Amino acid sequence: MKTLVVGGAGYIGSIVASELVEAGHDVSVLDDLSRGTAQVEGTTFYEASLLDPESLDGVLANGFDVVLHFAALALVPESVAEPELYFRVNVGGTLNLLEAMNAHDIKRIVFSSTCAVYGEPASVPITEQFPNNPTNSYGASKLAVDHLLTAWTTARNSSAVSLRYFNVAGAAHGLGEHHEPETHIIPIVLDAAAGTRSHVEIFGTDYPTPDGTAVRDYIHVLDLATAHILAIEATSTPGRRIYNLGNGAGFSVREVIETAERVTGCSIPVVESERRAGDPAQLISASDLIRSELGWVPLYPELERMIKDAWEHRGH
Ligand code: UDP
Repeated sequence: MKTLVVGGAGYIGSIVASELVEAGHDVSVLDDLSRGTAQVEGTTFYEASLLDPESLDGVLANGFDVVLHFAALALVPESVAEPELYFRVNVGGTLNLLEAMNAHDIKRIVFSSTCAVYGEPASVPITEQFPNNPTNSYGASKLAVDHLLTAWTTARNSSAVSLRYFNVAGAAHGLGEHHEPETHIIPIVLDAAAGTRSHVEIFGTDYPTPDGTAVRDYIHVLDLATAHILAIEATSTPGRRIYNLGNGAGFSVREVIETAERVTGCSIPVVESERRAGDPAQLISASDLIRSELGWVPLYPELERMIKDAWEHRGH
């Protein structure tokens, strides 16, 4: 299948692109290289920006069966500080992409949505029926795209799957998570274990959780890749599908740090500090729908394995 991976130079996009190559897809990558620089062997690379309709049109003119759309700004704190930027890139960029797809009669898309669309849930685990109430512009911009995709599938008799990722972790194919600046907990914790960072700051110790720190549901990037391959198959019939994607288990920030200490054998100094703006207390997924409708089964649900793969990827 001729597959275009938009945002395929980033952490998640590059690993999914590698898995698609392995699964026999004819894979092209489109990326503006603004936040990711990974090169995936066996793919055709196009440098283009979602904010430049002309260059986008030039790439899509090559014709594709399906588009996987990972390209987005994805940092919660940055989105709180720069809402206009997040809506311009995440919503405006996707609008340009859909218009280019329309122009070239491409009718299938798999979109990287997020659990941030739910905001602070009334309870956990979170199902797809929970109200959408994002607490930051990252989640709000992704939710706007989810609405756009719903309207697009109706108006164009097309097919869209949104995968609402919880916290993605781990490494594969020699590719892993690196952001500049880094804001994500696992890479930061591993920096502190390796000694390239003096300590980990725990953002908030007064949350209504068992140990007072925020709880997240971590999913291995390879299990996420499997979900994409199943989602591509699901787009063979027109319609709109939205699935949560996590393991259904929550780990607190302190548990992530303790697990990393066990995996690395290094002690990790911590400093307790204030909550970070826009962070919900607990995000845990109910992923029954993708399991029952697409047959998704995660192979690496253990946090230890995710941290181990990320640690080994760093060369330890
Ligand atoms: N976090 C933290 N210290 C850090 C980075 C993150 O305590 O240096 C916390 C953050 O406040 C959140 C959790 O770890 O509760 C996961 O944050 P991350 O940025 O990795 O992912 P997010 O859930 O924001 O997508």
